[in-house]
Amino acid sequence: MLIVQKYGGTSVANVDRIKAVAKRVVKTAKEGHKVAVVVSAMAGETDKLINLAHQVSSAPREREMDLMLSSGERVTCALTAIAIEELGHKAMAFTGRQMGIITDDVHTKAKIEKIAGERAKKALDEGYIIVVAGFQGITEGGSDVTTLGRGGSDLSAVAIASALNADLCEIYTDVDGVYTTDPNIVPEARKLNKISYEEMLELASLGAKVLQTRSVEFAMKYEVPVVVRSSFNDNQGTLVTKEDKDMEKVVVSGVAYDKNQAKITVMGVPDKPGIAARLFKGIADAGIVVDMIVQNVSSDGKAADISFTVPRTDTKKTLKLTEGIAKELGAKGVDMKEDIAKISIVGVGMRTHSGVASQMFETLAKHSVNIIMISTSEIKVSCIIDAKYTELAVRVLHDAFGLAQGKV
Ligand code: ASP
Ligand code: MG
Repeated sequence: MLIVQKYGGTSVANVDRIKAVAKRVVKTAKEGHKVAVVVSAMAGETDKLINLAHQVSSAPREREMDLMLSSGERVTCALTAIAIEELGHKAMAFTGRQMGIITDDVHTKAKIEKIAGERAKKALDEGYIIVVAGFQGITEGGSDVTTLGRGGSDLSAVAIASALNADLCEIYTDVDGVYTTDPNIVPEARKLNKISYEEMLELASLGAKVLQTRSVEFAMKYEVPVVVRSSFNDNQGTLVTKEDKDMEKVVVSGVAYDKNQAKITVMGVPDKPGIAARLFKGIADAGIVVDMIVQNVSSDGKAADISFTVPRTDTKKTLKLTEGIAKELGAKGVDMKEDIAKISIVGVGMRTHSGVASQMFETLAKHSVNIIMISTSEIKVSCIIDAKYTELAVRVLHDAFGLAQGKV
C-alpha cells in the first residue's frame, strides 16, 4: 500500500517526539508499504512566528507572513527526514515548492490547485520515505510562497494522498480519534470507529478541532479515505469515509457545541421586500460570516424582527455596521447578546428517522433549557441556548440519543 501519514504539531513538538515519529514511519515502511509523511510545525511555532510579526507591525504584509510561516514546517520536515535516515532508512525531505504544490495567490489562505509531485513519486519508487512540509505551496510559476490557512497541514496531507493516489491518509494527532462529543464534558463519550465525510464536515465546521474543515471537504470530494488516530499509542482511530448502510442506523453520531458566537437582533424592521437583502449584503461585504438567521413577523404583519449569529470576534464590527443599516431601514433598534452557545446534533441517520428534532427539543425542555434559535439541515439540528447551560445540554443530549452505549 501507499500510505500518507500526517503528524500534527504536538506529535513533532520536540526532538524526542520527532524520533518517535521516525520510528513509527520506518515501522510502517518495514511492513512493506510506501510511506509519504506530511508534518506540521512544532506545536506553538506558528503562533510564535505570527506574534513576532505583530511585534514589528500591526498589519504585516501577507506575502511576507507566508514566507515566514512556511519556515516552521521546513524545520520539522528536514528534522524528520534526518531522524529517519538515522534509523537506517532512506528518506528525502521536500518543501511545498519541491513537492510541486501549486496554489492560488490568496496569501495566508491559499487554495491548492494542483500537485505535480514528479520528483517525490520518483523518490518513492526508488525506496525513499518522503517527508513533505505541510501547510504550504507556491503560486503558479513559483514566484511566491503561500500558506493554506491555520491547521492547513491536514489539507496538505489529504491533497498529497489524492495526488499520489494513496490507499490511505492517516492523520496522527494527540487524541485517539473522533468522539461522540467532547470527553472533557462527557467522560463517557465514545470514540467512533467510523464516520461519514458529511458528518465529519459538519462536526469540523461546528468547531471539533480534530480535522481542518477544508481538508474534510477535499477528502469528501476526492474520496480519500482518512483515518484520525493518536501518535502516542497504537489504538485503532476513526475512519472517515463514504456513508454506508450501518451509519444510517444510528440517528445521531455526535453532539457538538460552539461558544464562539454572538446573536444580533434588529427589531421592528418594516416587513417589505429587500430588507433582508440590504442587511445581509452589508454584512457580507464586510467579510463577516453569518451563521444562523431567524426572522419573525409581528402579529400585525407590519414589522419584523431579524436575529442572526456571527463569530464573537466580529461582534463589535457587526454591531456597528448593523446599527447603521438599521437606522437607514427605519428599524426600532438593535440588540446584542454574547453569552450564548450553539448546541448541535449531527447524524446521517436523520435522513431516514423522523422526530429527531422534537426529541432534541423535548430533552432540552425537560432540563429547563430555553431555546433561543433553531436551525436544521438534512443531517443536523442546531439550537442556540444560554451559554451557562452548554455543559448540561451537551450531557443530556449525549445521553438522550444513547451515544454512550454505542451502536457502531
Ligand atoms: N502550523 C500550521 C498551524 O499551526 C499548520 C498546521 O499545523 O496544520 O496552523
Ligand atoms: Mg492540526
